[in-house]
Amino acid sequence: MSLQLPWHHLLWEQIKYCWQQNRLSHALLLAGPPGMGKTLFAQRLANLLLCEQQSGVKNSVDQVNWQPCEQCQSCHLLTVGNHPDLLSVHPSAADKLISVEQIRELIQFCSLTTYYGHYRIVLINPAEKMNRYAANSLLKLLEEPPSQTLFILVSHQPQQLIITLRSRCQLLNFSRPHPQLTQAWLQSRLAISQPTLTHQVDVALLLNISAQAPLVAVALAETEAMTQRQALFNSLIQLATGKMDPIKVVAQWTQWETVQILPWLLSWTRDIIRCALTGQTQYLLNQDYKTNLFRFSQQVDLKNLFNLLDQQTEVYQLVMGNTPVKVTGLLESLAIAWVKLTYSLRRSSL
Ligand SMILES: [Zn+2]
Repeated sequence: MSLQLPWHHLLWEQIKYCWQQNRLSHALLLAGPPGMGKTLFAQRLANLLLCEQQSGVKNSVDQVNWQPCEQCQSCHLLTVGNHPDLLSVHPSAADKLISVEQIRELIQFCSLTTYYGHYRIVLINPAEKMNRYAANSLLKLLEEPPSQTLFILVSHQPQQLIITLRSRCQLLNFSRPHPQLTQAWLQSRLAISQPTLTHQVDVALLLNISAQAPLVAVALAETEAMTQRQALFNSLIQLATGKMDPIKVVAQWTQWETVQILPWLLSWTRDIIRCALTGQTQYLLNQDYKTNLFRFSQQVDLKNLFNLLDQQTEVYQLVMGNTPVKVTGLLESLAIAWVKLTYSLRRSSL
């Protein structure tokens, strides 16, 4: 829990200064794309504010020594996930949303006396998953916030939050770090977690296909995701050459995480468009597939490619939104659109 990521350095400086000056806002909005470490930041901040040792040395601590002690009872309770002054609110498994009942429980939690007499912390993650009633209930609470309470809202898509709620929070913006910083970090991280593979891993490629989100790149390297990505790409070739039909292909796709498949499809379509517009492959993010992507770009219609990109974007927004959708049907529509787009390739040897 004490992990500090190098691209968070300025944000920690900002938060520590506010904390020491007693100017920490009652609500923080940690906003940025997935894979930037927002949840780790929120957990570590909760740990720092609840650590009994840190609260005792508040005004003398410097950045290097601003670490949870990992010895006090608060730190121990946080490690086992059972601190009485911390409430974590996540979407319920049933509909993947945060309900108004959960916010009512949160309000009840805020009305209790704190167990340790320090901070009371409420972590809502991801905040955009609150339904409308939940968001409005939370807004009412933030209009008259309880004392010694910090609300930490983590959001991958802050634009989906109601504006009045956003305006009640201090924004911490987790923008994409400089590639030089993340490449060095990723290399050293994988040297520890995957020592036998490090020499084979192209960290620049991993970051490119992760939209420069370092923790997404780590997940790609440390899981079966790259194998799935290859299988997904192979299935596009099989669709294009008529060797598989869309229904069978989508039956395979639905075995995987939709939130992972769609960014890959979008990324490949964008790369094909880049090739079509420039006639070159050096600007592609998916350098490992450049030969096939270039070939697609030479043989499909640019206007139809943009239409496919629009359709993929729309499906992605629907899947990421708060309204329940039939994912299989949406994926089938994308697979069929891809078959139509690439129909002319059927006689080729792709
Ligand atoms: Zn401690």
